[in-house]
Amino acid sequence: MRVTVPDYYENFHCLAGNCPHTCCEKWEVVIDEDSAAFYETVPGPLGGKLRTALKRDEDGDLCFPLNGGRCPFLDGENLCEIHKELGEAATSVTCQEHPRFTEDYGSFREVTLSASCPAANALLLGSEGPLTFHTFETDEAEEEGDEWLTYLLPLRARLLDTLTDRSRPLRSRLVSFLSLALSAQDCLDHDRPEDLPEAEETVFPPAEAPLFPAALEFLASLEILDADWPALLKQAEAAEKTPQPEAPLERIAVYFAFRYLLKAINDGDLLSRAELVVFAVLTVERLAPVCGLPEALRRFSAEIEHDDDNLDALLEAFRVETLSLNRLLAELEM
Ligand code: SF4
Repeated sequence: MRVTVPDYYENFHCLAGNCPHTCCEKWEVVIDEDSAAFYETVPGPLGGKLRTALKRDEDGDLCFPLNGGRCPFLDGENLCEIHKELGEAATSVTCQEHPRFTEDYGSFREVTLSASCPAANALLLGSEGPLTFHTFETDEAEEEGDEWLTYLLPLRARLLDTLTDRSRPLRSRLVSFLSLALSAQDCLDHDRPEDLPEAEETVFPPAEAPLFPAALEFLASLEILDADWPALLKQAEAAEKTPQPEAPLERIAVYFAFRYLLKAINDGDLLSRAELVVFAVLTVERLAPVCGLPEALRRFSAEIEHDDDNLDALLEAFRVETLSLNRLLAELEM
């Protein structure tokens, strides 16, 4: 099977006990059934602690409820007791996978590294060049992919090329990116994916209402992971807008576009995901004067990319006036 990863993927190493924002805090990890069954067999004090800690959450998933905001197995040196005593293979699938996001498309797989992880975030923003991707083969058998992928893959390549066309200012590229996505969405809405190669940029109606502060108020209304997030959003509302360098913003756009655009095969919704890409860039840019660009991206990724309810609510909001396409355009044209 073909597996595609960002060009910095092989350089990723978990910071473990030195991590300033460990992923073993603030969110509860879902424990897979195999790991839970194994924990039933672990002898000694650790086995007893595993069995006592394991609970079902309100969704019926097995998890280790947090203790003071931390995983109960995170020790005083910010190391995992399960990993230390039993090895990495004994940790849950979620723990072994994090910070990887894996998307399986049947005939190929794509893996990215969450920008909420400080080590992955530093790799993403640690280069000035365009973000590229590597593909390698594994021994795994391929399955048949969705037929829409035949058309969506080249379309995504065009959209990524638009984002990385450094002959133009980034904001102009983002307008073209949305414009092409809008035109492509029309093909998908009419169940004509074979017309995607002919999709061209379309003309937008004039922009009206601004994106901010409505966007920040909307983010504050979602589920909150970090108690400081609403305060950061408030500070960003009051802060003076400061243009950020284009190269890292472009890499952020490509990071989100690569991860989300192909998911349109699940529900035919390409445009909302393209809007998510632009929204992420504009919001991170807006937060950056308060906490710096890498931290702004890390916080946005943690709050949105790791909470399916928040992600769904955001995609939904692009279809209504709150965060309409028109508002995104107004912000790009300011
Ligand atoms: S957030 Fe990243 S670097 Fe930090 S502990 Fe988790 S995987 Fe390791």
